[in-house]
Amino acid sequence: MSKLYPWLVPTYHKISQTFSEGLGHHALLIKADQGLGAEGLFEALTKHIMCQTPDNAPCGHCHACHLMAAYSHPDFHVLASQEGKDIGVDQVRSINEVVSQHAQQNGNKLVYIQDAERLTEAAANALLKTLEEPRPNTYFLLQTEPSSSLLATIYSRCQVWNVPLPTEAEALNWLSSQFQAETSELLTALAMNLGRPLLALETLQQGLIEQRKNFLRQFWLFYRRRSPLEILPFFEKERTIQQVDWILAFLSDAIKYKLEIQSGWQTLDLKTGVTQFADEQTALGLLTANKIMQKVRSDLLTINGVNTELMLLDGLTKLITDVFKD
Ligand SMILES: [Zn+2]
Repeated sequence: MSKLYPWLVPTYHKISQTFSEGLGHHALLIKADQGLGAEGLFEALTKHIMCQTPDNAPCGHCHACHLMAAYSHPDFHVLASQEGKDIGVDQVRSINEVVSQHAQQNGNKLVYIQDAERLTEAAANALLKTLEEPRPNTYFLLQTEPSSSLLATIYSRCQVWNVPLPTEAEALNWLSSQFQAETSELLTALAMNLGRPLLALETLQQGLIEQRKNFLRQFWLFYRRRSPLEILPFFEKERTIQQVDWILAFLSDAIKYKLEIQSGWQTLDLKTGVTQFADEQTALGLLTANKIMQKVRSDLLTINGVNTELMLLDGLTKLITDVFKD
């Protein structure tokens, strides 16, 4: 069972209340960032919608709740990408067929669509037809990431909910109950992960704050000595993208410093280094550096079979020739 983390509770209550009042929308679209543990929200909501006697929460003891707990409710359907493939039109058609029939348990019918952005265009259009003709006691719950694109027509048929990030105090409170460390360390972990608590916890558990600090020290030496070959051995095969992200965070905070933006810093623990670096660069230079490293990142992600070291070397050399000119 997935947990309903404290920062998910308000969204859960708002949505479940609409159902308690008989105002539940037939198509809910919920957008949640990674690292918020939103699975727990979806599990709680699907159980709530299927429960025969829900109150503030699914009752847990009606027949529907038992069936849901056993993952065997005949009127609850999950539509998801299979083996990494997009969600195809055939999958949607068979769901449409099922929901056009009577509920087997005489209660609600619910279709939960995971990663709705993975619906092919044909699949989305097939789904659209069903969403346009709501049936009694038939509900759709669509999950998607905030940045993903989804057919505008699907959007227009749904009631859209955004799962907000927890406040810093909420996140800190939870994080301190999970991991023992100085508050400053917890805050650094949160900042590194843009306020997403579960990712911050991973950062702490894996000792990534220290690793990032050590790696960025190498980046600093590379900058001082203009020596790409010296930093190359510090890139780890399994962590290259993350290390590039650390450089990007460093650069983007340098830009923030230059523009006097105080919020959203990811490298507050390294502020002295960031500001010193930024003072030695122009804003334009920093933007160029950022662009160069973004290109390295996207090349690393999209071009297969090319030597990673060569791509890194190319980007780092450009930093020297185009940005760190003497
Ligand atoms: Zn129940």
